[in-house]
Amino acid sequence: MANQPENYGLGTLALHAGQSDDSATHACAVPIYATASYNFTSTEHAAELFALKEPGNIYSRLTNPTNDVLEKRLAALDGSVGALCFASGQAAITAAVLTLAHAGENFLASKSLYGGTTTLFSQTFKKFGVEARFFDASKPEQIAALADGNTRCVYLESVGNPKNDVPDFRAIAEAAHSLGVPVIVDNTVTTPMLFRPMEHGADIVVYSTTKFIGGHGVHVGGAVVDCGTFQWAEAPQRWPDFAAPDPAYHGLVFTEALKPLGNLAYIVHMRTHWLRDTGACMSPFAAFLFLLGLETLHLRMPRHCDNALAVAKWLAAHPAVAWVNYPGLPGHPDQANVEKYLPRGAGAIMGFGIKGGKESGRVFIDNVRLAKHLANIGDAKTLVIQPATTTHQQLTDEEQLAAGVTPEFIRLSVGLEDLADILADLDQALRKAVDCAACGCAGGQA
Ligand SMILES: *Cc1c(COP(=O)(O)O)cnc(C)c1O
Repeated sequence: MANQPENYGLGTLALHAGQSDDSATHACAVPIYATASYNFTSTEHAAELFALKEPGNIYSRLTNPTNDVLEKRLAALDGSVGALCFASGQAAITAAVLTLAHAGENFLASKSLYGGTTTLFSQTFKKFGVEARFFDASKPEQIAALADGNTRCVYLESVGNPKNDVPDFRAIAEAAHSLGVPVIVDNTVTTPMLFRPMEHGADIVVYSTTKFIGGHGVHVGGAVVDCGTFQWAEAPQRWPDFAAPDPAYHGLVFTEALKPLGNLAYIVHMRTHWLRDTGACMSPFAAFLFLLGLETLHLRMPRHCDNALAVAKWLAAHPAVAWVNYPGLPGHPDQANVEKYLPRGAGAIMGFGIKGGKESGRVFIDNVRLAKHLANIGDAKTLVIQPATTTHQQLTDEEQLAAGVTPEFIRLSVGLEDLADILADLDQALRKAVDCAACGCAGGQA
């Protein structure tokens, strides 16, 4: 007997979830609904839609049928109640946090984050009166020590990019929940194929779909996923946006009004306020590309992990390499958490340092041929970059070290090429890097 949709595996969900038959055309692929607006059937219909009394499309800044399939599919993959697409990962992260924390309030964030997120939190949010307090993700006890009555959420990454630390999610979630605040996990580098944050206490998940979900480096995008686990109505004074009458919608109480549909107050409020008002919506063409990417995510992630583990082992044994940082290698500082939380694979991102330090790292990067030197991760192709001089350049020295970014750190995002070709490319560039560092020449002209 065929499995029922609610029991489908992740691969089947990645191919089918959220799509129903297009009654107009019976198109098998998800159509790109390239429209800004939607016809109203009557003035009454228009008024009902604007009052949120009837579900339906008004304008593509708020809803679009192509995006809707992607949102439902992402929600299904994370076993959650709803999702919302954004124009980029950064737009999604901004929405996820600022829907909870307002001027005069604060939130707690791991020190090991994507560089753009650290800058967003420490510099840009500060200008609007929202304070980020940074904690060491390996010390969950810091959460209670840093929090106060104005703390609104705890934010971390599933595997820190690029530090490659793997936190104890359960301990962090318990610390957050005992303060009465939700946990947001950026699951970009693991994706639901390797890690489902809700199973380990997260309440909200964010993605840069630009990376593995899209998988081919063709579009920037992001999403927020609401696990539906956090009970806003238990503390209406703390969460008036969700659990008290909303003046922007004639006194509607989101938790009450949405009850028949599920615990959707956070994600619906985000759509009807943050996305409506600030407008960083995803284009339906981008949603189409991310849906296409999702169709093979369950095949790509295991191959990414297999290639990455083999590359990490090979690098660790290479005479030119000083150290390798990959969560899947035995002896990683978070090995116990890796075993507990990432049994399906430790992802494709690693860091390593070459003997000869920063300078030989520069020569290495200038000499890779197959690997692409660019600011991205999670492409089907192998990518390299030196974070200290690029992605994490805006951070202070202290912030860089907390994020695992030493001057010689090279970040590798291992792709899906034939392993032998990846290794051959790394090997020829490594040989040039150490030879040149030793002889002092300008490097790599051979
Ligand atoms: C790239 C990235 C982001 C930012 O996403 P954009 O789509 O580039 O805006 C956020 N978090 C992580 C972990 C990332 O790798």
